[in-house]
Amino acid sequence: MNFRASEAIFTRAQRVLPGGVNSPVRAFRAVGGIPPFIVKGKGSRIWDLDGNEFIDFVGSWGPLILGHSYPPVLEAVQKAMQNGLSFGAPTAMEVDVAELLVDMVPNIEMVRMVNSGTEAVMSALRVARGVTGRDKVIKFEGCYHGHSDAMLVAAGSGALTQGEPNSAGVTRGAAGDTLTAQFNDLASVEALLDANREQVAAVIVEPVAANMGVVPPEKGFLEGLRRLCDAHGCLLIFDEVITGFRLARGGAQEYFGVRADLVTFGKIIGGGMPVGAYAGPRCIMEKVAPTGPIYQAGTLSGNPVAMAAGYKQLEILQANPGYYRDVERKAQAMAHSLRDSAKKHGVPMTVNQCGALLCPYFTDEPVRTFADTQKSDLNQFKQYFHGMLERGMYLAPSQFEATFINVSHTEEDILAVCAAADAVLATL
Ligand SMILES: *Cc1c(COP(=O)(O)O)cnc(C)c1O
Repeated sequence: MNFRASEAIFTRAQRVLPGGVNSPVRAFRAVGGIPPFIVKGKGSRIWDLDGNEFIDFVGSWGPLILGHSYPPVLEAVQKAMQNGLSFGAPTAMEVDVAELLVDMVPNIEMVRMVNSGTEAVMSALRVARGVTGRDKVIKFEGCYHGHSDAMLVAAGSGALTQGEPNSAGVTRGAAGDTLTAQFNDLASVEALLDANREQVAAVIVEPVAANMGVVPPEKGFLEGLRRLCDAHGCLLIFDEVITGFRLARGGAQEYFGVRADLVTFGKIIGGGMPVGAYAGPRCIMEKVAPTGPIYQAGTLSGNPVAMAAGYKQLEILQANPGYYRDVERKAQAMAHSLRDSAKKHGVPMTVNQCGALLCPYFTDEPVRTFADTQKSDLNQFKQYFHGMLERGMYLAPSQFEATFINVSHTEEDILAVCAAADAVLATL
């Protein structure tokens, strides 16, 4: 396999785009090498500029749960396009999408569409602050909620009361109201809530942490968050940008049976187009402008072409509950096979899997916290990644991202990825 055409354009790209990309992880910095420049996708396959074919386990980082170029979604987009790309005025499709979401997702009555997951989270946090009149929010180390200022924080020295920026350009002020707790550790949340009584507007969590690999919530963790939020009068926000419509039609609330006060969506909700949304009960959502005092707006929000793509994909998911058993079964099969191969070849490995998400970590120890994820041998991951790429398996180019199993993956695709992994693990 060669990447000569990708390499040539990557050289050009690095002159005009920081790192040659428009989102950092695409640059392959964590694994080294040349990122293949993609020209086309169909079903579970993608092709790059050099004509290499891959089975894709990224799916645009989650959105493409039905696979690439899914004909009904493409047709819906083409049909919508014929009438124009944007009006900045209400369209009926926005109402259709909102009604479908209210139907699919538990505990929500109203929705506001935005253009990305980042925007959904940023807006939901403002709503939580607006309705509670409190400033602080609690997030979890290793959970990613997009790149808004308040979410780019690390636990600071005075971590019980104040976070520190973890990106240049984020002010102390913006980071200072964000507190950082430990995933799967209720005591760490309780300590923050106790130290900041009546100051915390919301606890925001990825119900399955899927931006530090894949770390499922332990039994009682999400239930415990619900209880703590109720006891302290703050809102529980599920960031379902990955888990929404992926774990189940109703996302993590349905999958785990735990209610959130606000949910944020992105990725799958747009079917591959740039869409995000936040949603909740009427009593909260009515506080958003123009009915309430919390301002939030968007020139392209509810864009008709994006809505058409999202609606069609969601409608198909709504009509096919069996898809969720199917993707979970395929993910379980892959996880089992990886564990067997690792054992056979004496490679230390822990494979976490939840629904259609999985992640192999190169460590013997169980991975249930952010600290555990950091024990993975990143050199082994690099070798695994490049070995898989060479064998036509396109995985996320970082240890700390999920492997996404989609409806489009065939039984043969799963057998192929398992066989490739077995061959690669034999060389480690
Ligand atoms: C991807 C992601 C975001 C950010 O969404 P963008 O559309 O990239 O802005 C937020 N939260 C979670 C959980 C994500 O995985």
